[in-house]
Amino acid sequence: MEGALAISGAGINIRGMSKSFVESLQAYARLAVHVGVNLQKGQRLMVRAPIEAAPLVREITACAYDAGAPLVSVLYHDDQLSLARFQHAPKDSFETFPEWQADALLACAKRGDVFITVSGTDPDLLGSQNPDDVAAAMRSGQKHMAPFMAYPMSDRVAWCVISMPIPAWAAKVFPRLSAEESQLKLWDRIFTTCRVDQADPVQAWKEHIVNLQLRSRYLNERRFQTLHYRGPGTDLRLGLPAGHIWKSAESVSTSGITFVPNMPTEEVFTLGDRNRADGVVKSSKPLNYGGTLIDDFSVTFSGGKAVQVTAKKGEATLRKLIETDEGSARIGEIALVPHSSPISKSGLLFYNTLFDENASCHLALGKAYRFTLEGGKEMDDVTFANAGGNNSLVHVDFMIGSPEMDIDGLDEHDRPEPIMRHGEWTVVN
Ligand code: ZN
Ligand code: ZN
Repeated sequence: MEGALAISGAGINIRGMSKSFVESLQAYARLAVHVGVNLQKGQRLMVRAPIEAAPLVREITACAYDAGAPLVSVLYHDDQLSLARFQHAPKDSFETFPEWQADALLACAKRGDVFITVSGTDPDLLGSQNPDDVAAAMRSGQKHMAPFMAYPMSDRVAWCVISMPIPAWAAKVFPRLSAEESQLKLWDRIFTTCRVDQADPVQAWKEHIVNLQLRSRYLNERRFQTLHYRGPGTDLRLGLPAGHIWKSAESVSTSGITFVPNMPTEEVFTLGDRNRADGVVKSSKPLNYGGTLIDDFSVTFSGGKAVQVTAKKGEATLRKLIETDEGSARIGEIALVPHSSPISKSGLLFYNTLFDENASCHLALGKAYRFTLEGGKEMDDVTFANAGGNNSLVHVDFMIGSPEMDIDGLDEHDRPEPIMRHGEWTVVN
């Protein structure tokens, strides 16, 4: 699952919007407000978005006020300002963080506001900047944001991550198209994968949620102790802690409101045991980590910990990522997605985790979601870790699924049962 923290974006200008496009944009905004965060009358909304997302954010804002929000606040950010910092700021300044932003978000969370994050990134934005500087800034940001992030990570607030095309991102996905064509095409893919193109998008989401729940329920009944992954370059055993909970699309906030944290979503996921990961796993798609692309990589685990990493591209960044803290070298999330998911069927590489993770089985390095362990939301860090849950400043999903991937679930006697063959569910299919 993609966490509530998503940063950066660069340049879209939608000229001559067709009526159907505007209608789609409004339907998308309605989905984010009514299904995504499921805003209740009287709740404030905080939106974080790239500056180019203004047309979408305006629709979201209007919809939220219609739904009874007393106030909508927006924090815009700009890829070009992030880039300028690494190009021009003093070398010893990358630990500096705007504390007021973390304080404001924490105050919103404490009040029970709801959060929409619009994710849109230039996958190559910081690729040629010094990885040490980028890592220092990211680590400082993660540290400052940790008190706020504890809220969405344990579903104490309703939150939702959606997306929108940024020119540099659209150009990366559709390199042969013109700037305008690539953005329209990416919009089209987003609308399709988010079911905005359906006659009744809200109803379509309800049906989709029920379908995903069939699989999470099945896995919750089976109570596997270990998963065994096999595929090209992959032979990995992952422990599932006692009390693990398989989740899908829908979450419930502390105040009892159901919401959908990621749109699109195709995954069924839980947490891994922080001490039981053994073997090697190979990535199946590139990973965009904070503006740097990591590609064609393998991670070897022993006793839960990543002990070796190799990457054809971005190896230094991958190394920095797992060295962030003790938990960043361990698995926080295990997610199953069939190779035939609609996003995978599009055949596109999105270079954006929100999309690529929903086209592929994936794992996350770092922090586990508290709500994926029985009683996890009420545990302190030590109790959570003792129960097998992982803590870290980071939560980074990376894609490992492919049409060659086989996965078995193992019971307490290590007896295997097929869950996936050739990247497809063998159960509840
Ligand atoms: Zn996931
Ligand atoms: Zn995740």
